Amino acid sequence: MDVLHRFSFIDLPIRGQWVRLEKSLATATQFRVYPKPIHEMLGQMLAAVAMVADNLKFSGAVTLQSRGDGDLLRSLAECKDQSFLRGIMHLQNSHDNAVAEQPLAQWLGNGQLALSLIPDKESGMQPYQGFVSLEYDTLAQCLEHYFVTSEQLETCINFASDSSMGSPLVTGLLLQRLPNSPQATEIEIDAAREAWHTLSTLAATVTDEELSQLDAQTLLYRLFHEHPCRLHEPRALSYRCSCSRAKTNTTLMMLGDDDLRALIEERSEITVDCEFCGNRYTYDRALATEVLNELAAQATAVEKSSDSLNSPKTLH
Ligand SMILES: [Zn+2]
Repeated sequence: MDVLHRFSFIDLPIRGQWVRLEKSLATATQFRVYPKPIHEMLGQMLAAVAMVADNLKFSGAVTLQSRGDGDLLRSLAECKDQSFLRGIMHLQNSHDNAVAEQPLAQWLGNGQLALSLIPDKESGMQPYQGFVSLEYDTLAQCLEHYFVTSEQLETCINFASDSSMGSPLVTGLLLQRLPNSPQATEIEIDAAREAWHTLSTLAATVTDEELSQLDAQTLLYRLFHEHPCRLHEPRALSYRCSCSRAKTNTTLMMLGDDDLRALIEERSEITVDCEFCGNRYTYDRALATEVLNELAAQATAVEKSSDSLNSPKTLH
């Protein structure tokens, strides 16, 4: 089972997360064959969004997505409701399996990487998007820099990918220094600074082998055994695509009345495939006509609301 554990150090404003993904990564990659570094990067992106989502106080989605003109044209990893993952990578040349390791910025070319928090509509909260600077080689380093600069949280992140047991798995370890409590004394602040230095130095010594092969409890003991730490109950993570017929209807409506009508005339059936999970949504004439009717109803509603806005003017 794919899980995420939080852990916290006793009496210190330092917390951490350990996450391991195997099945959800396997499901996310079952429809596409990615070159090894891209497969690993998707795993790391999924681990990253799971860790960010774990700290959210609202329901919604966290996404990490890139756009660029390098070998990696577009990518997206999403964690919904803190538990459900999906992701996709679009390569310039998807059949090139010989792509070598390269710094993140080079993968993206002239590109951007953004972290978004998208609360559910019912929460009444606004979405937030922050850009992750690509000045470091790895995703882990770029995210560490992001947390320090955007959230003023000193952070240490390690990812390891491993395929030695067959199905590739990714493990992530994050350590984060929380702000000192307002009541903290000078001595406590100094102690927290000192502890952060020690613990982040220890975390940075973790090898890929340790990270990939040890369970959370054993790894924490091996790295930090002199510092008492509490491992919290695991959160289960799984692959689930958030596509639906309602969302596909919206996609079709974005074509506009004329183009959609032309498409229905031209074909007896319209199919829309979800690029994440391969789910196929089929529209026969009757279903497509329902979408057209919904589009027309929406247009009328918009007209009415703009009429009511304009009506005071028309009275003059
Ligand atoms: Zn889907």
